Amino acid sequence: TTKLLEVNNLKQYFPIKGGILGRTINHVKAVDNISFYVNEGETLSIVGESGCGKSTTGRAILRLDKPTSGEVIFQGEDLLSINQRKLRKKRKDLQIIFQDPYASINPRQTVRQILDEAMGIQNVVPKPKRLDRMMELLQTVGLGSHQLDRFPHEFSGGQRQRIGIARALAVNPKFIICDESVSALDVSIQAQVLNLLKQLQRDLNLTYLFISHDLGVVRHISNRVAVMYLGKVVEIGEKEAIFDNPKHPYTKSLLSAIPVPNPRKQKERIVLKGDVPSPIDPPSGCRFHTRCPFASDICKTETPKLRQTNSMEGTHTAACHFIEEIESGQRQPFY
Ligand code: SF4
Ligand code: MG
Repeated sequence: TTKLLEVNNLKQYFPIKGGILGRTINHVKAVDNISFYVNEGETLSIVGESGCGKSTTGRAILRLDKPTSGEVIFQGEDLLSINQRKLRKKRKDLQIIFQDPYASINPRQTVRQILDEAMGIQNVVPKPKRLDRMMELLQTVGLGSHQLDRFPHEFSGGQRQRIGIARALAVNPKFIICDESVSALDVSIQAQVLNLLKQLQRDLNLTYLFISHDLGVVRHISNRVAVMYLGKVVEIGEKEAIFDNPKHPYTKSLLSAIPVPNPRKQKERIVLKGDVPSPIDPPSGCRFHTRCPFASDICKTETPKLRQTNSMEGTHTAACHFIEEIESGQRQPFY
Protein backbone atom coordinates (compact mmCIF):
# COMPACT_ATOMS: atom_id res chain seq x y z
CA THR A 1 0.00 0.00 0.00
CA THR A 2 1.06 3.55 -0.81
CA LYS A 3 0.31 6.53 1.37
CA LEU A 4 -1.47 9.10 -0.77
CA LEU A 5 -1.74 11.71 1.95
CA GLU A 6 0.25 12.28 5.09
CA VAL A 7 -0.63 14.84 7.75
CA ASN A 8 2.20 15.64 10.13
CA ASN A 9 1.93 17.70 13.33
CA LEU A 10 -0.97 19.73 12.02
CA LYS A 11 -2.04 22.66 14.17
CA GLN A 12 -4.88 25.06 13.61
CA TYR A 13 -5.15 27.79 16.22
CA PHE A 14 -7.71 30.51 15.59
CA PRO A 15 -6.90 33.82 17.28
CA ILE A 16 -9.44 35.41 19.63
CA LYS A 17 -9.24 39.19 19.53
CA GLY A 18 -10.18 41.32 22.46
CA GLY A 19 -9.78 44.61 24.28
CA ILE A 20 -10.00 48.06 22.72
CA LEU A 21 -6.89 47.44 20.65
CA GLY A 22 -8.26 44.22 19.19
CA ARG A 23 -5.13 42.31 20.09
CA THR A 24 -4.99 38.56 20.05
CA ILE A 25 -5.74 37.60 23.62
CA ASN A 26 -6.07 33.86 23.25
CA HIS A 27 -6.48 31.05 20.75
CA VAL A 28 -9.02 28.40 19.97
CA LYS A 29 -6.90 25.29 19.66
CA ALA A 30 -9.20 23.67 17.13
CA VAL A 31 -6.62 21.16 15.93
CA ASP A 32 -3.59 20.61 18.11
CA ASN A 33 -0.68 18.69 16.68
CA ILE A 34 -2.25 15.75 14.92
CA SER A 35 -0.66 13.24 12.55
CA PHE A 36 -2.17 10.51 10.39
CA TYR A 37 -2.00 9.12 6.86
CA VAL A 38 -4.44 7.92 4.24
CA ASN A 39 -3.52 4.99 1.99
CA GLU A 40 -4.26 5.15 -1.71
CA GLY A 41 -7.70 3.75 -2.53
CA GLU A 42 -8.95 3.53 1.05
CA THR A 43 -11.41 5.42 3.21
CA LEU A 44 -10.12 6.87 6.44
CA SER A 45 -12.90 8.25 8.60
CA ILE A 46 -12.48 10.92 11.22
CA VAL A 47 -15.13 10.55 13.87
CA GLY A 48 -15.93 12.63 16.93
CA GLU A 49 -18.48 14.97 18.45
CA SER A 50 -19.12 18.39 16.96
CA GLY A 51 -16.35 20.85 17.76
CA CYS A 52 -13.62 18.20 18.04
CA GLY A 53 -11.74 19.55 15.02
CA LYS A 54 -12.81 17.13 12.27
CA SER A 55 -14.00 19.72 9.78
CA THR A 56 -11.16 22.07 10.65
CA THR A 57 -8.77 19.26 9.75
CA GLY A 58 -10.47 18.76 6.39
CA ARG A 59 -10.37 22.45 5.59
CA ALA A 60 -6.74 22.74 6.67
CA ILE A 61 -5.71 19.88 4.38
CA LEU A 62 -7.20 21.72 1.41
CA ARG A 63 -5.80 25.01 2.70
CA LEU A 64 -9.28 26.52 2.69
CA ASP A 65 -8.05 27.94 5.98
CA LYS A 66 -4.29 28.12 6.18
CA PRO A 67 -3.14 26.08 9.17
CA THR A 68 -0.94 27.45 11.94
CA SER A 69 1.74 24.83 11.34
CA GLY A 70 2.40 21.30 10.18
CA GLU A 71 2.71 19.44 6.92
CA VAL A 72 0.22 17.95 4.49
CA ILE A 73 2.18 15.72 2.14
CA PHE A 74 0.24 14.80 -0.98
CA GLN A 75 2.10 12.76 -3.58
CA GLY A 76 5.40 13.84 -2.13
CA GLU A 77 4.66 17.56 -1.96
CA ASP A 78 3.76 19.65 1.08
CA LEU A 79 0.51 21.40 0.20
CA LEU A 80 1.06 23.88 3.00
CA SER A 81 4.31 25.23 1.63
CA ILE A 82 3.78 25.30 -2.14
CA ASN A 83 2.96 28.63 -3.79
CA GLN A 84 -0.54 29.69 -4.90
CA ARG A 85 0.02 28.81 -8.55
CA LYS A 86 1.09 25.27 -7.71
CA LEU A 87 -1.69 24.98 -5.16
CA ARG A 88 -4.29 25.89 -7.77
CA LYS A 89 -2.94 23.13 -10.00
CA LYS A 90 -3.05 20.60 -7.17
CA ARG A 91 -6.57 21.61 -6.17
CA LYS A 92 -8.12 19.56 -8.93
CA ASP A 93 -6.66 16.42 -7.41
CA LEU A 94 -8.30 17.15 -4.06
CA GLN A 95 -12.00 17.85 -3.81
CA ILE A 96 -14.49 18.28 -0.99
CA ILE A 97 -18.16 17.38 -0.71
CA PHE A 98 -20.04 19.18 2.06
CA GLN A 99 -23.01 18.24 4.18
CA ASP A 100 -25.30 20.68 2.49
CA PRO A 101 -24.66 20.85 -1.24
CA TYR A 102 -26.78 24.02 -1.23
CA ALA A 103 -24.06 25.79 0.68
CA SER A 104 -21.56 25.19 -2.11
CA ILE A 105 -23.83 25.29 -5.16
CA ASN A 106 -25.08 28.52 -6.68
CA PRO A 107 -28.90 28.17 -6.60
CA ARG A 108 -29.25 30.31 -9.72
CA GLN A 109 -27.11 27.99 -11.83
CA THR A 110 -28.42 24.96 -13.68
CA VAL A 111 -26.66 21.62 -13.39
CA ARG A 112 -25.13 22.33 -16.80
CA GLN A 113 -23.66 25.62 -15.59
CA ILE A 114 -22.44 24.10 -12.34
CA LEU A 115 -20.59 21.31 -14.12
CA ASP A 116 -19.34 23.60 -16.89
CA GLU A 117 -17.85 25.94 -14.33
CA ALA A 118 -16.10 23.05 -12.52
CA MET A 119 -14.59 21.79 -15.77
CA GLY A 120 -13.52 25.29 -16.72
CA ILE A 121 -11.20 25.55 -13.72
CA GLN A 122 -7.70 24.95 -15.08
CA ASN A 123 -9.55 24.09 -18.29
CA VAL A 124 -9.53 20.47 -17.11
CA VAL A 125 -11.98 19.55 -19.86
CA PRO A 126 -11.75 21.62 -23.05
CA LYS A 127 -15.01 23.36 -24.09
CA PRO A 128 -15.95 21.12 -27.04
CA LYS A 129 -15.68 17.99 -24.91
CA ARG A 130 -17.67 19.24 -21.96
CA LEU A 131 -21.17 18.19 -23.00
CA ASP A 132 -20.12 14.56 -23.49
CA ARG A 133 -18.37 14.63 -20.16
CA MET A 134 -21.44 16.10 -18.45
CA MET A 135 -23.64 13.31 -19.79
CA GLU A 136 -21.14 10.76 -18.59
CA LEU A 137 -20.96 12.37 -15.14
CA LEU A 138 -24.73 12.45 -14.71
CA GLN A 139 -24.91 8.79 -15.58
CA THR A 140 -22.07 8.01 -13.20
CA VAL A 141 -23.91 9.54 -10.26
CA GLY A 142 -27.29 8.09 -11.21
CA LEU A 143 -28.99 11.14 -12.71
CA GLY A 144 -30.45 11.47 -16.21
CA SER A 145 -29.34 13.73 -19.05
CA HIS A 146 -32.80 15.36 -19.04
CA GLN A 147 -31.84 16.88 -15.68
CA LEU A 148 -29.06 18.99 -17.15
CA ASP A 149 -31.06 22.19 -17.37
CA ARG A 150 -32.74 22.03 -14.01
CA PHE A 151 -31.96 24.15 -10.99
CA PRO A 152 -30.82 22.78 -7.62
CA HIS A 153 -34.19 23.46 -5.93
CA GLU A 154 -35.88 21.14 -8.40
CA PHE A 155 -34.02 18.18 -6.91
CA SER A 156 -34.44 16.19 -3.71
CA GLY A 157 -31.73 16.30 -1.03
CA GLY A 158 -30.26 13.00 -2.21
CA GLN A 159 -30.22 14.13 -5.84
CA ARG A 160 -28.59 17.41 -4.87
CA GLN A 161 -25.86 15.51 -3.11
CA ARG A 162 -25.40 13.52 -6.34
CA ILE A 163 -24.90 16.83 -8.16
CA GLY A 164 -22.31 17.75 -5.54
CA ILE A 165 -20.55 14.46 -6.22
CA ALA A 166 -20.72 14.98 -10.00
CA ARG A 167 -19.19 18.39 -9.58
CA ALA A 168 -16.37 17.01 -7.45
CA LEU A 169 -15.74 14.28 -10.04
CA ALA A 170 -15.77 16.72 -12.96
CA VAL A 171 -12.08 17.48 -12.49
CA ASN A 172 -10.97 13.83 -12.10
CA PRO A 173 -9.75 14.09 -8.52
CA LYS A 174 -7.71 11.45 -6.73
CA PHE A 175 -8.69 12.38 -3.22
CA ILE A 176 -12.08 13.49 -1.90
CA ILE A 177 -12.94 14.83 1.53
CA CYS A 178 -16.54 14.05 2.44
CA ASP A 179 -17.51 16.36 5.30
CA GLU A 180 -20.73 15.04 6.84
CA SER A 181 -21.77 14.37 3.24
CA VAL A 182 -24.76 12.18 4.08
CA SER A 183 -25.64 13.59 7.50
CA ALA A 184 -28.53 15.73 6.28
CA LEU A 185 -30.18 12.89 4.35
CA ASP A 186 -32.86 10.39 5.38
CA VAL A 187 -31.46 7.04 6.44
CA SER A 188 -32.61 5.18 3.30
CA ILE A 189 -31.15 7.87 1.05
CA GLN A 190 -27.95 7.87 3.11
CA ALA A 191 -27.40 4.22 2.25
CA GLN A 192 -27.86 4.90 -1.46
CA VAL A 193 -25.38 7.77 -1.47
CA LEU A 194 -22.87 5.79 0.61
CA ASN A 195 -23.13 2.88 -1.80
CA LEU A 196 -22.62 5.26 -4.71
CA LEU A 197 -19.48 6.65 -3.03
CA LYS A 198 -18.19 3.13 -2.49
CA GLN A 199 -18.81 2.14 -6.08
CA LEU A 200 -17.12 5.28 -7.39
CA GLN A 201 -14.15 4.53 -5.17
CA ARG A 202 -13.72 1.12 -6.75
CA ASP A 203 -14.32 2.28 -10.33
CA LEU A 204 -12.19 5.42 -10.19
CA ASN A 205 -9.61 4.39 -7.58
CA LEU A 206 -10.57 7.27 -5.33
CA THR A 207 -9.23 7.87 -1.84
CA TYR A 208 -11.59 9.29 0.77
CA LEU A 209 -11.23 11.19 4.00
CA PHE A 210 -14.67 10.75 5.48
CA ILE A 211 -15.65 13.15 8.25
CA SER A 212 -18.67 12.18 10.33
CA HIS A 213 -20.16 12.18 13.81
CA ASP A 214 -22.29 9.15 12.91
CA LEU A 215 -20.72 5.86 13.94
CA GLY A 216 -23.21 3.80 11.92
CA VAL A 217 -22.25 5.61 8.74
CA VAL A 218 -18.56 5.38 9.60
CA ARG A 219 -18.86 1.65 10.14
CA HIS A 220 -20.44 1.26 6.72
CA ILE A 221 -17.89 3.18 4.68
CA SER A 222 -14.46 3.03 6.35
CA ASN A 223 -11.34 0.96 6.03
CA ARG A 224 -9.64 2.78 8.88
CA VAL A 225 -10.97 5.10 11.56
CA ALA A 226 -9.43 7.98 13.52
CA VAL A 227 -11.23 9.17 16.66
CA MET A 228 -10.83 12.82 17.61
CA TYR A 229 -11.48 14.50 20.93
CA LEU A 230 -10.98 18.21 21.53
CA GLY A 231 -8.45 18.81 18.77
CA LYS A 232 -6.49 15.59 19.25
CA VAL A 233 -6.50 12.17 17.62
CA VAL A 234 -6.98 9.77 20.54
CA GLU A 235 -7.18 6.48 18.66
CA ILE A 236 -6.61 5.26 15.12
CA GLY A 237 -6.74 1.84 13.51
CA GLU A 238 -8.49 -0.59 11.17
CA LYS A 239 -12.27 -0.29 11.33
CA GLU A 240 -12.61 -3.77 12.88
CA ALA A 241 -10.11 -2.91 15.59
CA ILE A 242 -11.83 0.34 16.49
CA PHE A 243 -15.35 -1.08 16.53
CA ASP A 244 -14.70 -4.52 18.01
CA ASN A 245 -11.71 -3.84 20.19
CA PRO A 246 -11.53 -0.15 21.13
CA LYS A 247 -8.73 0.77 23.54
CA HIS A 248 -9.26 4.40 24.43
CA PRO A 249 -11.87 5.18 27.10
CA TYR A 250 -13.36 7.89 24.90
CA THR A 251 -13.80 5.52 21.96
CA LYS A 252 -15.27 2.94 24.31
CA SER A 253 -17.77 5.48 25.61
CA LEU A 254 -18.83 6.52 22.09
CA LEU A 255 -19.36 2.91 21.08
CA SER A 256 -21.10 1.91 24.29
CA ALA A 257 -23.75 4.53 23.59
CA ILE A 258 -24.96 2.94 20.35
CA PRO A 259 -27.40 0.05 20.72
CA VAL A 260 -26.52 -3.20 18.93
CA PRO A 261 -29.02 -5.75 17.57
CA ASN A 262 -27.78 -8.53 19.86
CA PRO A 263 -28.15 -7.36 23.50
CA ARG A 264 -25.62 -9.96 24.69
CA LYS A 265 -23.00 -8.18 22.60
CA GLN A 266 -23.93 -4.75 23.96
CA LYS A 267 -20.81 -3.13 25.34
CA GLU A 268 -20.85 -2.11 28.95
CA ARG A 269 -22.05 1.45 29.12
CA ILE A 270 -19.31 3.93 29.91
CA VAL A 271 -20.77 7.08 31.37
CA LEU A 272 -18.90 10.35 30.98
CA LYS A 273 -18.96 13.24 33.39
CA GLY A 274 -19.96 16.69 32.12
CA ASP A 275 -19.64 18.18 28.68
CA VAL A 276 -16.78 18.62 26.24
CA PRO A 277 -14.59 21.44 27.67
CA SER A 278 -13.78 24.56 25.67
CA PRO A 279 -10.94 24.33 23.12
CA ILE A 280 -9.78 27.78 24.28
CA ASP A 281 -8.14 26.55 27.44
CA PRO A 282 -8.27 22.80 26.99
CA PRO A 283 -7.51 20.61 30.03
CA SER A 284 -3.82 19.98 30.69
CA GLY A 285 -2.24 16.57 30.28
CA CYS A 286 -4.75 14.20 28.71
CA ARG A 287 -7.53 16.42 27.40
CA PHE A 288 -10.04 13.76 28.29
CA HIS A 289 -9.12 13.67 31.98
CA THR A 290 -11.99 15.91 33.13
CA ARG A 291 -14.49 13.35 31.85
CA CYS A 292 -12.65 10.05 31.91
CA PRO A 293 -13.86 7.52 34.51
CA PHE A 294 -10.35 5.97 34.61
CA ALA A 295 -8.33 9.19 35.13
CA SER A 296 -5.55 9.41 37.69
CA ASP A 297 -3.19 12.22 38.76
CA ILE A 298 -0.67 11.58 36.00
CA CYS A 299 -3.45 12.17 33.43
CA LYS A 300 -3.66 15.81 34.57
CA THR A 301 -0.01 16.54 33.92
CA GLU A 302 1.28 14.21 31.22
CA THR A 303 -0.09 14.22 27.71
CA PRO A 304 -0.34 10.63 26.48
CA LYS A 305 1.08 9.97 23.01
CA LEU A 306 -0.42 7.65 20.44
CA ARG A 307 1.24 4.26 20.88
CA GLN A 308 0.76 0.82 19.39
CA THR A 309 -1.71 -1.39 21.28
CA ASN A 310 -1.67 -5.18 21.55
CA SER A 311 -4.45 -5.37 18.97
CA MET A 312 -4.24 -8.13 16.33
CA GLU A 313 -5.52 -6.02 13.47
CA GLY A 314 -2.36 -4.28 12.17
CA THR A 315 -1.47 -0.79 13.22
CA HIS A 316 -3.79 0.30 16.00
CA THR A 317 -2.66 3.15 18.21
CA ALA A 318 -4.30 4.90 21.15
CA ALA A 319 -3.28 7.83 23.35
CA CYS A 320 -3.91 6.75 26.94
CA HIS A 321 -1.54 6.05 29.85
CA PHE A 322 -3.53 3.06 31.05
CA ILE A 323 -4.50 1.01 27.99
CA GLU A 324 -3.19 -2.25 29.44
CA GLU A 325 -4.43 -1.70 32.98
CA ILE A 326 -7.94 -0.87 31.78
CA GLU A 327 -7.92 -3.92 29.52
CA SER A 328 -6.82 -6.30 32.26
CA GLY A 329 -9.36 -4.90 34.70
CA GLN A 330 -6.58 -3.74 36.99
CA ARG A 331 -7.95 -0.23 36.59
CA GLN A 332 -11.64 0.18 37.30
CA PRO A 333 -13.91 3.14 36.52
CA PHE A 334 -14.92 5.38 39.44
CA TYR A 335 -18.54 4.40 39.46
FE1 SF4 B 1 -8.39 8.53 30.81
FE2 SF4 B 1 -5.94 9.01 31.74
FE3 SF4 B 1 -6.26 7.42 29.66
FE4 SF4 B 1 -6.66 10.05 29.44
S1 SF4 B 1 -4.74 9.02 29.88
S2 SF4 B 1 -7.95 8.45 28.62
S3 SF4 B 1 -7.58 10.52 31.42
S4 SF4 B 1 -6.98 7.06 31.74
MG1 MG C 1 -18.15 19.73 11.18
